[in-house]
Amino acid sequence: MPTQQAATAALDSPQLPGLTTRLADALLGDDSRQRLTLALLGLAALVTATVVLLLLYAARIGAADVQQVGVLTVLYFVFIGGFYGLIRSGLNRHCADPTLAMPQTLIAQSLIGASYAVTGPVHGATLIMLSLVMVFGMFSLRPASVRIACVYTVTLMGMVMVWCVQHQPLHYPARQEVFNFALTAIVMLAISQLSGQLSDMRTRLKTQKIALEQALAHIKEMAARDELTGLPNRRRMMTLLQEHATRHARGGPRFFVCIIDLDHFKSINDTYGHAAGDAVLRAFATQAQVVLRTTDMIGRWGGEEFLLLLTETPPGDPTLGVARLRERLAELPASPALYDLRVRFSAGFARYEDGEPIDQAIERADRALYAAKSAGRNRSVVL
Ligand code: GH3
Ligand code: MG
Ligand code: MG
Repeated sequence: MPTQQAATAALDSPQLPGLTTRLADALLGDDSRQRLTLALLGLAALVTATVVLLLLYAARIGAADVQQVGVLTVLYFVFIGGFYGLIRSGLNRHCADPTLAMPQTLIAQSLIGASYAVTGPVHGATLIMLSLVMVFGMFSLRPASVRIACVYTVTLMGMVMVWCVQHQPLHYPARQEVFNFALTAIVMLAISQLSGQLSDMRTRLKTQKIALEQALAHIKEMAARDELTGLPNRRRMMTLLQEHATRHARGGPRFFVCIIDLDHFKSINDTYGHAAGDAVLRAFATQAQVVLRTTDMIGRWGGEEFLLLLTETPPGDPTLGVARLRERLAELPASPALYDLRVRFSAGFARYEDGEPIDQAIERADRALYAAKSAGRNRSVVL
């Protein structure tokens, strides 16, 4: 079927980025931070486009001077184009705030203020754009900067309104302008207030996010560790074994699985108590970490059993490290409180064979351990 063929052909051909993706890359670049800055400029361009439309409409119905509208429209394009050039060239990176949010806000408010003065009978509509610019500013500026921008807007509009009342009293009657000024001042005050609250909320969210990340890291750590000995637990060792098997399949080093089981551990518990048994397990874990190679990994497999993952370094006997541990334990007390007691253990080794499931190697190590126990304990057997 042709559609099926087309689908297969599409799957076979190398993935080409879509037209929109390529267009976006060409317009916005590939730096994610710069793209965010440009997205902010996109919002400013949107407000600009709305004001320009309003200006053109005012000129069309004869409410605004065509020449003044022309000059302002060009200024808007210069404003957006200039900032686009600054960001795309990367020059904004040298600024204290590379988002350039503050200069964008102040210039936008100035241009809207000028638009207010030239739009005669429809000038009221530009007021809403002042608020819109500040609402966007709330998300990108610090509260102190929002306050400065609000004070700037109120002062600027006060001056523009006074000028308009004096020079175009027909379209800017004093009473109406007092009302517009009060409205602008109230809205700017409310935005200043809200930006403070928004910033507090953002700080709270950031703190909560950090606390959650720390808690998650702690939980992950706890989920991978054995509480008594501090060694990696069975789940973690299983993951490590799987990872080593996968790595070996891709040409990584071969490894040995070794299961260690303390000899006659039950009698330690029975004679000295469970707490003493715990101390012995902890002491064993400490010594194993001291004696074994840093490349070897040991974890608690369960009860008084430990699993060792040894990377093969031929030529060499894989049991050497374990023999060193055995010698050391023969010299040291089983735990700080049991001076005369020595810990002995049996160990079963299995060489990981190409492509076998990891469970198979573990089972062989288990059988080797059983053989070591049967042969009289305190020894290593390799299968
Ligand atoms: P073998 O030489 O054949 O291995 O004999 P064993 O006594 O070491 O083996 P057995 O399986 O009979 O007993 C293991 C004991 O380990 C029984 C159990 O109570 C004890 N044990 C398991 N986990 C812990 C633990 O976390 N703390 C303590 N203190 N004892 C534990
Ligand atoms: Mg056991
Ligand atoms: Mg045992």
